Formats: sequence, C-alpha cells, structure tokens
Amino acid sequence: MHELAITEGIIKIAIDAAKQNSANKILNIKIKCGDFSGVVPQLIHEYFDIVSKETLAEGAKLLVERIPISIICNDCNTENVIEKSNIKCPNCGSFNYRIIGGKEFFIDSVEVE
Ligand SMILES: [Zn+2]
Repeated sequence: MHELAITEGIIKIAIDAAKQNSANKILNIKIKCGDFSGVVPQLIHEYFDIVSKETLAEGAKLLVERIPISIICNDCNTENVIEKSNIKCPNCGSFNYRIIGGKEFFIDSVEVE
C-alpha cells in the first residue's frame, strides 16, 4: 500500500507550503503521474479524502495529470509514446528501447488561499 504513504507525503508537502505562505486553506494540489511510475492515481484520490480530514488540505482538489510513457528506440532511433498495453516500438516493433519519460511522480503546484 505505498499509495497511502505517498498520499501522506503529498498532504504534508501541501500543508508545509500553506504554512510558509500563511494560508488558511489549500485549494488545489496538482500532481504529475507517469504511466510507468507504478502509482495508481485512483488510490491516491481515495486516500486523500481520508488523510486530509481536519487538516488544511481538507476539501482541496487533487488534480492528477498523466504523463505518458515515452521511449527512444535503440533499433530505429525514433522517439515515441507507448501504452502500457502495447509496449513495442510503434515505429519498428522492437522491444529494445530506453524509457525517457513516464516514470515521474511529483507535485507540480499547490494553490493556497
Ligand atoms: Zn523502433
């Protein structure tokens, strides 16, 4: 259940940001979540409501933006976006590539009031 720990981390960071800005309320938290990060955004949403209760983050909107998996193919040398359901190079069908994007998971911004 690492999503629970991640959610607690997100809320802690958002609350710290709110305190630094002497804010009373956290309006929204933007997160970028790579498709290959291993994090399930649905679970983050579920935990968020529970963990944020009675904190500055209660009622805040959690916006999760997906980052697609992008690769550079070692065989045909092109850069492509792949889906988890179809992980071959879309250009030449190779499995020999480097993943250059989609592993990320981070807080993009915190909006406070
Ligand atoms: Zn290729």
